[in-house]
Amino acid sequence: MSYFKTSFQPSYQRNNKDSGQKNLRCFPGCCPKGHVARGYCGCAVSVGAATEDRMAWTMFALEGSQLEVKVGDELSLLFASKTKTRTRKSPGLPWIKGDSVEGGFNFNSERLGWHYGWISNVHTSGVSHVLRCAIFQRKGDVMICVDVTESPAFQVYCSRRKRKGVDTLVDHVPANDCLTPTLKRSKSDVFQIPSLIDINKRAKVARGIPPGNPCTQSSQFMTLLQLSTLACMIETNSK
Ligand SMILES: [Zn+2]
Repeated sequence: MSYFKTSFQPSYQRNNKDSGQKNLRCFPGCCPKGHVARGYCGCAVSVGAATEDRMAWTMFALEGSQLEVKVGDELSLLFASKTKTRTRKSPGLPWIKGDSVEGGFNFNSERLGWHYGWISNVHTSGVSHVLRCAIFQRKGDVMICVDVTESPAFQVYCSRRKRKGVDTLVDHVPANDCLTPTLKRSKSDVFQIPSLIDINKRAKVARGIPPGNPCTQSSQFMTLLQLSTLACMIETNSK
């Protein structure tokens, strides 16, 4: 049976890069020499396992979600390599191939970003994540899954992204809060007013100011312009 040798933290910050990379910071722990404030901070993941004639991949998943591969599944090595395996040229692919070392496999020794492409939304608040490791017995070009092991569950939250009009959010917020309603909603959704209210409520909560300004009661009857002004007033008053 395989097992994760690496220890994990209860939660990780995920950065959204303009390139589309969503990298977990300090995953699974900081650099061996200590935390690095800028750029990559993280280390390899180690899994203890038998390695003879075996190959291993690791991948992020939602805790409790269906296994992408389970024991007994057969997979073409070519398929796994070409369509699943992350490389420098394809950093968005989901599977990270393990390097065979004494007593098991190491993942991401190359120190690429720990990209996790999970898309958060308002309905996935509080979900937990795991890192899974699938071990395959190799028979020519065919691989047979012989074991799947899972890391302890962890949470993912995202860092603040400075965007127009929403730079009042706190630094560290749950992942689902990273979705900025005014920006993410479809154009057909004309009622964007509550979004501004939400943002100000969040800003107030973050500052320890109870929400519920009476002015917001009649917000649905205001024009967006009026509300924007109100938002600025609330912002100014709460400073
Ligand atoms: Zn770190």
